[in-house]
Amino acid sequence: MKDMHLITDPRCTQYHSQGHPERPSRIQTTVKKLKEQKEFSISWEKPDPVSDEILLRAHTADHLTRLKKAEDFDGDTPFHSGIDKIAQLAVGASLASLRMGQDRKPVFSLMRPPGHHATQDRAMGFCYLNSMAITILEALGSGTEKAVVFDFDVHHGNGTEAILLDKPGCMYISIHQYPGYPGTGTRHQGNCRNFTAPPGSSRAAYREELKKGLEELHKFNPDLIGVSAGFDAYTKDPLSQQQLEAEDFHWLGEQLSGFKKPMFSLLEGGYSDDLPDLILAYLKGL
Ligand SMILES: [Zn+2]
Repeated sequence: MKDMHLITDPRCTQYHSQGHPERPSRIQTTVKKLKEQKEFSISWEKPDPVSDEILLRAHTADHLTRLKKAEDFDGDTPFHSGIDKIAQLAVGASLASLRMGQDRKPVFSLMRPPGHHATQDRAMGFCYLNSMAITILEALGSGTEKAVVFDFDVHHGNGTEAILLDKPGCMYISIHQYPGYPGTGTRHQGNCRNFTAPPGSSRAAYREELKKGLEELHKFNPDLIGVSAGFDAYTKDPLSQQQLEAEDFHWLGEQLSGFKKPMFSLLEGGYSDDLPDLILAYLKGL
């Protein structure tokens, strides 16, 4: 196995709200686990710098200004001092992972906040800037012709869908629980494919939906795969009612790397205490 490239930055653990499931230990415990494991070697990398010009590929100028205003966005998505800069670090890590993915290096961006619920002009669902959408638009703007986002977070990436909808050269594929937060992603539209599983689906039924998403990816035949890797369809996750096990995330890693395309993966959700094991299983699959 080639060296795994992990992009992270301790500054992404410098904000939190009491009792919030999207907490710094998600990153800290995963870094610890990955440093202790002996199954593969890891090179630890830093985020790339990010310009406003790049952020504006996916967001409005008003949104970038709003992120600096000391006012909560919604109950799930509080304002934190400096959150605009921390969210930019996550975008920078995503851009670094794109660069490494294009160089055919196995890579994972281990950062917070997540991004897939952030729309052009709204922070929501623990997300402030949409790292994935920004990165895909940056790739399409610099030579990539066909890019796909494969989003296996248990929640629909409404922000990524809204930003990429009908953008030429890309496809958005999501597999998620419905009914569930944020209530979108109930049907295919334009270049977006949504596969849903009701709360309490069996592992086998959820895997069938994942397979449908993988088939769409295969048919689209992209030259870049961006993976929104959320680990909250796990059986012990407090924010969903699904039953995936660590080996399902290992299987997903194998399936996605099996396309043998330039690829990068970003951490989205995943709120159980077993998150480090789930990420490790996925990385082993890659
Ligand atoms: Zn999620």
